[in-house]
Amino acid sequence: MTPPINADLHSHSTVSDGTLTPEELAGRAKANGVALWALTDHDEIGGQVRAAAAARALGMDYLTGVEISVSFLHQTVHIVGLGFDADNAALINGLRQTRGGREQRAREMAEGLAKVGIHGAFEGALKFAGNRDLISRTHFARFLVESGVCRETYEVFRKYLTEGKPGFVEHRWASLRDAVTWITQAGGMAVIAHPARYKFSANEEFALFTEFKGHGGRGVEVVTGSHTPAEYISYADTAREFGLAASRGSDFHSPNESHTEIGTLPSLAAALTPVWELLAQRIQVASSPSLEVDASAAH
Ligand code: AMP
Ligand code: MN
Ligand code: MN
Ligand code: MN
Repeated sequence: MTPPINADLHSHSTVSDGTLTPEELAGRAKANGVALWALTDHDEIGGQVRAAAAARALGMDYLTGVEISVSFLHQTVHIVGLGFDADNAALINGLRQTRGGREQRAREMAEGLAKVGIHGAFEGALKFAGNRDLISRTHFARFLVESGVCRETYEVFRKYLTEGKPGFVEHRWASLRDAVTWITQAGGMAVIAHPARYKFSANEEFALFTEFKGHGGRGVEVVTGSHTPAEYISYADTAREFGLAASRGSDFHSPNESHTEIGTLPSLAAALTPVWELLAQRIQVASSPSLEVDASAAH
């Protein structure tokens, strides 16, 4: 039996809220043995050409990627898109609309923080945003760590940036139908990101999966940096129940913050259908099998 390939299909660069450039991330993925990579920045595909070029030059296969913010039953759900055409106009427009309200939201977040004595958070967060359009809670978290309010970003989320806390502002993102449709009509596959992270009841989660499938969604993340080993098992069952392919991705953001290193998660259970099997035609193949082969060919 051939060993499972090391696919990491969820990660973030400086194009959204990661701290490494697409090229740095490609190098880190390669160093950790990744054979098939996707950069999945939030609501933005501006890093795709760079990521694909860097991956292929290092001998990794590449799938285009994005992570779209969706509002569903008053919660934010993330839908990962894989293997789409990155020059698709409807997808590009849809993502532009989705990004649109972030600056206003960030100003309101800063007002909420000012009320509890934390001043200058908008400007502070902006300093950390490589891409102003994508200013996110992660950038606020980095500012609050830098200014000594909290020791680490997880603490900032818990105390300041989640529902009911001073810096939280409810936001209207894309609809589930739109996000799935943008990805699918651009030739890609829509995948429910880190399902265990949402605080849905069993009925609400059933509604999410059912509507997602109804719109044409085909995959779910099973092995992700956001899941526990028990959740790898329970969402493998969910994938089978709903007839969805399974994905694997670290959700790596930063060497300093991320608990899960890129390319180091366990493999998907053999009984699952990996998303990359269904996306075989959409993979951008490495320019050379590996750098080592290139180096030896030069002698
Ligand atoms: P936003 O899109 O501005 O709402 O920011 C969401 C991002 O914040 C996610 O993609 C994660 O990178 C990060 N995030 C969300 N919740 C947490 C948490 N509890 N701890 C650390 N980072 C988080
Ligand atoms: Mn993020
Ligand atoms: Mn996410
Ligand atoms: Mn993510």
